[in-house]
Amino acid sequence: MEAKPKNAADPKGANSFSMRLLETVIETARLAGYKFVPLEEMQREPQRQRQFSIRLDLDFKPQTLLPFVELGKRQKIPFTLFVRVNGPYNPLWYTSYSAIAAMASAGAEIGLHTNCVEWAAIHGIEPGRVLAAELNLLKEWFEVKSIAPHRDVNYMHNTLPWLEQNWTQLSKQHGLKYHAYDAGLLRHALYVNEGLSPHLSWRGQTPFEAIETGKPIYMLLHPHWWWVDHPFERD
Ligand SMILES: [Zn+2]
Repeated sequence: MEAKPKNAADPKGANSFSMRLLETVIETARLAGYKFVPLEEMQREPQRQRQFSIRLDLDFKPQTLLPFVELGKRQKIPFTLFVRVNGPYNPLWYTSYSAIAAMASAGAEIGLHTNCVEWAAIHGIEPGRVLAAELNLLKEWFEVKSIAPHRDVNYMHNTLPWLEQNWTQLSKQHGLKYHAYDAGLLRHALYVNEGLSPHLSWRGQTPFEAIETGKPIYMLLHPHWWWVDHPFERD
């Protein structure tokens, strides 16, 4: 018999990962007095209570951003979106670019989702050059103030240690205000995210459990796992 997912009995359907569920999270947080802020604002004052930031890592399928654009406009949510340049999609492909640009014009903060150390190791190129190339491309079209590392092959080449070791120089060189694993941010905020373990579920506490604490909430979501009618609607 298959093991029961951790949140299977959650009355709010915490394992369904529909946009309806996300809207319920947002409405529940608002009722509890939470204010939604971009990640840049949260990292400036991470100890402030009842603030909620939603980070989106765009790993695959840029079209899955479109329901987030709608939800963001309807609920006035300032999402923070991290976009890949070396990923399995081209951010400048017509429909990818228009989805990312729609997020930006709906008020989302845009950052770079980078796996520059892994890419550099595979191709024998210095990681700083890869990062500069990625940033240059994205900065041409969007205001980029931040970075979130991405891992393609789990833990094989992790960009985060390199980023942290070189952060003083890199942030100055590229005019970056923060990266997504900033120590102050993670020390003060409750980190909520979904992931495969092995099935899609909340990795630790659910957002509903986090809301009950009143503490700052930093929630990471992956748009390709979220859907309006069913999980394969944009395949
Ligand atoms: Zn990622």
